[in-house]
Amino acid sequence: MDAGHGGRDPGTSHYGLREKDLVLDLAKRVASELGARGMSAVLTRDRDEFLPLSRRPAIANRLPADLFVSVHVNANRNRHVSGIEVYYPRESQVTDATALPPSVRPSEVALPTTTVKRVLWDVVLSQTRSQSVRLASVICRTMREQLGTRCRGIRGARFVVLREAQMPAVLVEVGYVSNHRESQQLAEPAYRQRAAQAIADGIASYLRDVGAQDI
Ligand SMILES: [Zn+2]
Repeated sequence: MDAGHGGRDPGTSHYGLREKDLVLDLAKRVASELGARGMSAVLTRDRDEFLPLSRRPAIANRLPADLFVSVHVNANRNRHVSGIEVYYPRESQVTDATALPPSVRPSEVALPTTTVKRVLWDVVLSQTRSQSVRLASVICRTMREQLGTRCRGIRGARFVVLREAQMPAVLVEVGYVSNHRESQQLAEPAYRQRAAQAIADGIASYLRDVGAQDI
C-alpha cells in the first residue's frame, strides 16, 4: 500500500484537507482491512514523511509484493467534477533520459538506445499490464457499489509509481477534495473506512478471480 505524497509534498489541499493526511489514513485503513481478510500489506510510508516517487515501487519490488496499490485524492479547477478514478500503467514513453527498467542491469545491455529501452520497458510492462487493468476495473466496481459514488472509469497513465512496479499496479483516486460534497465525505472517518473496505474487497475479489488467494 502506497500513500501518495507526504512530508514536504502535501499533494492537493482544499477545504482544509491535505491530500497527504487523507491518503495516509486511507492507506492504513486499507492495510488493516487486508489484514482482516488474511492478507498482509506493507505501507511504503506509515507517517508524514517525504518519499521520492521511485522509492515507492522500489519498496514493493524488493519485497517482492504481489500487488502495488497507490492511494491518492484528486482535485480539479472545476469544483463540479467528482467521482473515483483508478489508473493502471500505460505504454511506456521512453526518451533519451529514461533509465533502464529496474529489473535490467546496465551491464546486461550493450547499447541502451532509446529503441532498446522502449522495447525493454514494453516487455516489463506487458507482463503485468492486463492484470493491472483487471485489478483497476474490480476496484472501480467495488467502490462504486459500496460507496454509491460514481466511478469515472479506469484509465491508463504513465505515472512513475505505476511504471516502475514489477507487479500488477494501480493508483486509486478516491474522490475529488475540490468538490464540496466529496471533501465533506472524505473528511469523515466513517466514509474513509467504507472506502478502505471497498478497496480491500476489490483486491480480495481480484485475487480470488486469479486463483491466487493463497499468496
Ligand atoms: Zn496525489
